[in-house]
Amino acid sequence: MINVVKRLSINQMLLVSHLLLALLIISGLSMARFDSEWHRQIDYSASLAKQSLHPHVNTFSTAVSGINYANLTMPQTLDSLAVVDDILFVDIQGTSDYSGQSVHVRYLPVEREVWRADVEPQEIAAAQQRVEKLTALLKEVESFNTIKTRKLNYLLNKAQAEYQALTKSYGKENTATVKWQKPVKTQEHYFLQEQEYLLHVVLPLRNKNGGELWAVIDASKLANIKHKLMKDIMVEALFAVILSVAVVLWATHWVVAPLKNLAKSMSGEETYSNIKDLPELTRSDEIGQLAQAYKGLLLKIDRQMNSLRAKSDADPLTGLGSRYKYARTSQPYIKNNVLQGKYVGLMIIDIDNFKAFNDIYGHMQGDAALAAVACNVQKALTNVDMAFRYGGEEFVVLCARHDRNELERVGELVRRAIEDLNVEHVGNAPYGKITISIGGALAQKDALGSEESTYEHLVESLFATADKALYECKSAGRNRVAWANVFSADLAVEPA
Ligand code: GH3
Ligand code: MG
Ligand code: MG
Repeated sequence: MINVVKRLSINQMLLVSHLLLALLIISGLSMARFDSEWHRQIDYSASLAKQSLHPHVNTFSTAVSGINYANLTMPQTLDSLAVVDDILFVDIQGTSDYSGQSVHVRYLPVEREVWRADVEPQEIAAAQQRVEKLTALLKEVESFNTIKTRKLNYLLNKAQAEYQALTKSYGKENTATVKWQKPVKTQEHYFLQEQEYLLHVVLPLRNKNGGELWAVIDASKLANIKHKLMKDIMVEALFAVILSVAVVLWATHWVVAPLKNLAKSMSGEETYSNIKDLPELTRSDEIGQLAQAYKGLLLKIDRQMNSLRAKSDADPLTGLGSRYKYARTSQPYIKNNVLQGKYVGLMIIDIDNFKAFNDIYGHMQGDAALAAVACNVQKALTNVDMAFRYGGEEFVVLCARHDRNELERVGELVRRAIEDLNVEHVGNAPYGKITISIGGALAQKDALGSEESTYEHLVESLFATADKALYECKSAGRNRVAWANVFSADLAVEPA
């Protein structure tokens, strides 16, 4: 797991962690919303049922209070209950206010059934006895006594009806199954049996000794409401997830893109002056701080590079440009001037018989002489010319003029400047003083174009040609200048 995490980029890490967080929050909120909406719907259905049952509570309370089974089991009572929407079953249970006797009646409005649930066998036996007693009494009464006969007949009919009602109730309660279990009393006095969509509502009776009305209502309408609610909430959650993905993608891009940009800038060859336009520098957050630190680092590196370059650009003994500076600047110098249409000259200057000078006057004197020659070569040049100590007692001069003769004159000027120094050098016969030999090579704009490789080749050709010319000077007796041309035709430039 840790290895997997380590292999993730910041982009992926941010994306995964934020998406997980967003999904957790969205699912949590959706579930909470579903829960509260669903309970609101159940609550609403329960209060509708309570409102419909409310008018019956007074009737039932009075009947229970006076143990009025006649009222409770009347067909009209059943009819008035059947009017309540989707009612399946009602159970009335309470205690009489007069005798403390419990009263229990049950209704199945759909099947038009009503019965007492509290009939005891003794009660049936007592009713039966009463019927038998009344039947016996009726037999004993003389047939002419019509008033008494009528009264007894009335009582007998009533007793028989009561006996039948009790028997029916007893049978119903013991054989017919009521599939609903009275729920444990909840604080809200209602409860939804979710799988069957049955709403149980319990209302208190108003009589002194109390009691309850328990109704079971068909709440299958709630199933549709539940499905619609789930669909709505899922659509909302999906929308929230899509929005979160967009926001997370934007946020990760906001953090990672500048980091990538900085990394790209760091891996390139940036300098302090190049990064001033880096957009990350304008940020005020941690990425902005990183960009500022990077800018500071580049500034430091630039300073150090400049100081190093200044050190390595100068030759410590003569103060002329170093061989390193020659390698760095010769090509752009030549290219610039050639493209401006000037003649460009490269001169190699070599001190004549300098080994002998060292041998005769010592190395220290040799160094001083070297420095003096360099100083006077520089003096003979203009400030647009460039002079380098190429190595040992050899110098290279780069110069450019519009006129070829003028360029050649520069070589002669330099040669004479050293001769005129009159530094004694007995080992340099026949001159007896320090002299120099100069091999020069010149090039001009001659369909050279601006290809870098052409100029790289041109520098090499100029140097080789000048070296040859120098060799000729040495062979011809030293203390002289020889020039040779380099033409574009001589430059066997391979196409880049
Ligand atoms: P040529 O006229 O043919 O150039 O003769 P050369 O004696 O000058 O020729 P070579 O190139 O053989 O000798 C160069 C000498 O320059 C060798 C060395 O003693 C001397 N030299 C090179 N660098 C220095 C330096 O930094 N200081 C001193 N004092 N002498 C140096
Ligand atoms: Mg030499
Ligand atoms: Mg020499």
